[in-house]
Amino acid sequence: MHQLRLCLLLAISTIFSLQAQQPKTYNASEIYEAVQKLNVLGSVLYVAAHPDDENTRLISYMSNEVKARTAYLSLTRGDGGQNLIGPEIRELLGVIRTQELLAARRVDGGEQMFSRANDFGYSKHPDETLEIWNKDEVLADVVWAIRKFKPDVIINRFDHRRAGQTHGHHTASATLSMEAFDIANDASKYASQLELTETWQPKRLFYNTSWWRYGSQEKFDKLDKSNMLNFDVGVFYPSKGMSNNEVAALASSQHLCQGFGRLSQRGTQQEYIELLKGEPISEGNNVFEGIDVSWNRIEGGEAIGTILNSVETNFNFKNPASHLPELLEAYKLLQSIKDKHWKTVKTKELKTIIEACTGLYLEVSANTPTAAPNSEVKLNMEVLNRSTVSIDLVSYKLSTLESGNAKNMTLSSNQKLNFEEGITIPNNSNYTTPYWLNTKSTLGMYNVKDQSLIGLPETPRAVFVAFNLLVDGTPLTITKPVIYRYSKPDKGELYRPFEIVPIVSASLGHEVYIFENDHQKEIEVTVKAGKDNVEGFVQMAYPKDWQVFPQKQKIDIASKGDIQNVIFTVIPPKHQSEGLLTPMVNIDGEFYTDKIIEIDYAHIPFQTVLMPSESKVVRLNIEKEGSNIGYIEGAGDVVPESLRQIGYNVTIIKPEQISPENLDDFDAIVVGIRAYNIVDDLVFKQRFLLDYVKEGGNLIIQYNTSRGVKVDNLAPYDLQLSRDRVTDENAVVRILEPNHPILNFPNKIGVQDFNGWVQERGLYFPNQWAKEFTPLLAANDKGENSKEGALLVAKYGEGNYIYTGLSFFREFPAGVPGAFRLFANLLSAGKQKESTLKN
Ligand SMILES: [Zn+2]
Repeated sequence: MHQLRLCLLLAISTIFSLQAQQPKTYNASEIYEAVQKLNVLGSVLYVAAHPDDENTRLISYMSNEVKARTAYLSLTRGDGGQNLIGPEIRELLGVIRTQELLAARRVDGGEQMFSRANDFGYSKHPDETLEIWNKDEVLADVVWAIRKFKPDVIINRFDHRRAGQTHGHHTASATLSMEAFDIANDASKYASQLELTETWQPKRLFYNTSWWRYGSQEKFDKLDKSNMLNFDVGVFYPSKGMSNNEVAALASSQHLCQGFGRLSQRGTQQEYIELLKGEPISEGNNVFEGIDVSWNRIEGGEAIGTILNSVETNFNFKNPASHLPELLEAYKLLQSIKDKHWKTVKTKELKTIIEACTGLYLEVSANTPTAAPNSEVKLNMEVLNRSTVSIDLVSYKLSTLESGNAKNMTLSSNQKLNFEEGITIPNNSNYTTPYWLNTKSTLGMYNVKDQSLIGLPETPRAVFVAFNLLVDGTPLTITKPVIYRYSKPDKGELYRPFEIVPIVSASLGHEVYIFENDHQKEIEVTVKAGKDNVEGFVQMAYPKDWQVFPQKQKIDIASKGDIQNVIFTVIPPKHQSEGLLTPMVNIDGEFYTDKIIEIDYAHIPFQTVLMPSESKVVRLNIEKEGSNIGYIEGAGDVVPESLRQIGYNVTIIKPEQISPENLDDFDAIVVGIRAYNIVDDLVFKQRFLLDYVKEGGNLIIQYNTSRGVKVDNLAPYDLQLSRDRVTDENAVVRILEPNHPILNFPNKIGVQDFNGWVQERGLYFPNQWAKEFTPLLAANDKGENSKEGALLVAKYGEGNYIYTGLSFFREFPAGVPGAFRLFANLLSAGKQKESTLKN
């Protein structure tokens, strides 16, 4: 099953790899669909909390069947989840999920918006969510999204009446959307936004309900649905050769880092929305009832509608360019429309259609994928008119230059024009990086002050070219970002965004360095040049009771893109201590302290992220017994690296290697998170693991989800997993068995070891267990009863079986000292000498 899913993911990512990178071009069917959409002046905003929450069936239906301008407002970027396709977590995972949402919208035809809310992890109740998010700022962002997008209709994914029954972020997204609906039209609310936009009152707000909201299809069938609309989201689109549900499946299958690759569905299927606010619907299933969504909606629109409806009715699939005279006439009329909002939206759509009809090819490619400020770049421009319509290139203007270049050339049909332009990247250019990561975020919020950036899915490109054209006598300006185009023998033609990077960046090998005693460690700094001939020094900022040698080291890198490694000796203090290590590169008196992270997957465009280069250093007061640890991989955690950092030899045991002989030598065996949910072979190998315990081994199993455990004998005795979790990372931990060896050897564990934990205490704790188990700890979230299943130990034969739902997989990457000390005790279980036992 797992294998099959992986193959599917790969197949899907291959199909869409081209789409993710290449500039979009339109075939005749797509131009026709765009004309149909051009003739609808209605809009729908879908609201939820996370990447993947969105119902792509309904988004695709609104976009492709209703032809409404449709957007998804995801309050967060999904930083808090797990990554199934690579090592990126937290902010970097948010960058991937942002791009996956954009990839999904490229498939279903929607647009994408965000708020500044940070996905801080699981939350049980919206009240808790809104305490951690800055409620006022997130509400402001929802209001901002409504005022900017001006939706006629809002559809919530989640039910505001279900607080506590789903993720708190979900319910919060619904309640905030309800509140914003009521105040977006009130000029006294968030008045400063009105310098950039206008107030707006959406007509209706719906909740996208479903049978599962009511427990069963049967119960849902019996429900009074007079307050609901329904749509057949299985409708077939001949112009696409696909039905709506197939489009939707392709869209949601873009969420690859969440393992959302899925099968498509065909055939009729009903989707329901329940009216919560706004004008009642008198009959039928028209969400826009009472709004004229034709061109007649706007003053001066009627004449435009007459032209464009005729284009739609008589569309020439063989030669879309034959419509250019009408399209240009409509374009001219559109420019004198008073309604600023629709003028902007429809001008953009119409320009795309005109460009597509002429087969215009406008491309600006740089001779390098990256450049530092003040460096020179050669741009190659390709300009080509692939129609018989008369097109002149009047001039073009680079965003980095004060004035444009006059050209005054006629673009003869299918005669390619290439010209080169050398530019210098301005010294004050912003680096290419996600704007929401420019300043440090808090647990609950990204810090973005520039109102015009708030809500945008990505940072606007800094370098672009505006082509000023005369298309059949009509002036038209088309803007293209600078890209980098190249090819690989095994991949074909590839595109990358052109990016501005610092002249130098520096990175450390690990996010966290653990010092298990007072011995010094050698720590390597990798310095990368963003331009040729980088000369300077590297020095290190470090906590005050630590020492670093030498004070500074020279660097001299001849070529852009090349790296130089320098090694510093770091000496920890004698006592427990933690702090930050930051490499600082000094070039001509200026300090550079960022690292560059590159994210490269086939299904999304190449991403460059600049982040402060800093690693945590931790001097631990830790004792440990044993040295050889076997590790069985689950869904992926950094336990092996973390245990190596504190001096253990860790051997990865592949499922097929699990045999009595191979397990013998290990002092302890650790099972990775969710291994029993995803590793099929454990069904056959579990008996060897339990035998290993019986013979005196020490087995530590980390959390598995309660649903879908592949083995019947997870433990040697009865053990029932549940969905019990403690999400508050500061929840008080009560020590139930202070004298138990596991809490005393070799480290004395106390409540102070639970300080500084991140994101949560733990998850999927067992809630029932046999009498052989001893629960060692108890904790609970506010208002809940005590959960005692976080750490359970049982003697089995000569050995120890330990099951723990504590979130070591989150605490290790954050360098939390107490988590390391407690885990060292789990690994040392049963190794206490007879003599110490007697004391
Ligand atoms: Zn969600």
